[in-house]
Amino acid sequence: MPLYIVLLGPPGAGKGTQAQRIAQAMNIPHISSGDIFRENIKNKTDLGVQANRVIVKGELVPDDLTIAMIKDRLSKADCQPGALLDGFPRTPFQAEALAKILTEFRGKVNLVPYINVPEQLLIERLTGRWTCRAQGHVFHEKFNPPRQAGRCDIDGSELYQRDDDKVETVTKRIKVYLQQTLPLIEYYQRMGVLVNIDGSQEIDQVTANIMTAIEKVNL
Ligand code: ADP
Ligand code: ADP
Repeated sequence: MPLYIVLLGPPGAGKGTQAQRIAQAMNIPHISSGDIFRENIKNKTDLGVQANRVIVKGELVPDDLTIAMIKDRLSKADCQPGALLDGFPRTPFQAEALAKILTEFRGKVNLVPYINVPEQLLIERLTGRWTCRAQGHVFHEKFNPPRQAGRCDIDGSELYQRDDDKVETVTKRIKVYLQQTLPLIEYYQRMGVLVNIDGSQEIDQVTANIMTAIEKVNL
């Protein structure tokens, strides 16, 4: 049976940071909706042009575009053992669509680590985040600095600050999260797959707590 994990949490909770480590440990692909949008924006595809209009405002990309993009990604051969989803689903409609897609692959959402962090800390994390141009690896100028300023430790590419990590857009994104994504906590709680993770701890500790939750999953 494939293993599907959904990382849930507000912008800046540490989903990308954790996803990278967990996906490597579990040997499943890390699928970040935000990274796929940014790749499309960089390559100026139709999807990228459409997505960019809303991303700069801190709003969500329409469900139909997002769902089609994720379905396509989950259909790739490397997802046969499962996948770690980061940033998707973000609305109840996307969550329902995901359940249907996974049924087609004879799977389901097995675990939802919900990484929670107080709002003030989120703003500090996002406004100090530096992202790698090549593969989206993330660093923080204070909490997780790269060895060399402006360079990714992992692939050596340039680090940049995302346009939507400006304080005004960050505040808007947190508001959108509270309105549109928060209902998913109850949804996954009802399905019995939600695990609460304290995201205000050190990066290594958060990883250890998520790994403990994964070890308890019965496939
Ligand atoms: P998300 O994908 O949920 O938006 P990221 O993984 O990109 O979050 O993390 C947001 C910022 O916070 C990044 O700059 C990252 O380096 C930093 N960060 C992530 N986890 C922690 C942590 N546990 N403690 C301190 N800083 C963290
Ligand atoms: P963060 O890491 O801070 O949580 P992401 O990289 O996941 O941010 O997302 C950046 C932006 O991309 C979002 O603010 C939104 O505009 C868009 N986006 C990402 N995932 C989705 C999704 N599942 N549905 C709609 N829009 C999305």
